[in-house]
Amino acid sequence: MTEPRQHPYPTSQREFVERIRAAVLANDRFFDSHNWQNIEPTGGRNSSLTKGTYADRFYVKPIACWIPHLLIPNHVPCCPRCGKRDLVEVNRGVRFINSPKILYGLGSHKYLDTLCYPCNRCKRRFTLLCMRHSRFF
Ligand SMILES: [Zn+2]
Repeated sequence: MTEPRQHPYPTSQREFVERIRAAVLANDRFFDSHNWQNIEPTGGRNSSLTKGTYADRFYVKPIACWIPHLLIPNHVPCCPRCGKRDLVEVNRGVRFINSPKILYGLGSHKYLDTLCYPCNRCKRRFTLLCMRHSRFF
């Protein structure tokens, strides 16, 4: 009997998400060579034209990786609760959200991944995904 998945997408998608997360955390300049709006699996969507393909290729969707403090130099996100940014951590204590959100497109979908930032004043974490919070951006 197989174990139930702990995430709402195929294991191959999870592996891709984990690989990109590790690369982002290991390299502050990751986005110099990657478009944050569309990080595609290795080989790209037309890779089957040049070499053998495998079924997982059709399940793994691109990722949009919204990491404000890496995309905007010296940027510190503003906490939506206290409205301040002086005690928001951008290095220590940050973690990715549990599961990337689905971004629906016209032809397919991709996943939106982002970080939870801790605010040391509020003692809570926040993301900048919802419009109500992004006004504090
Ligand atoms: Zn706060």
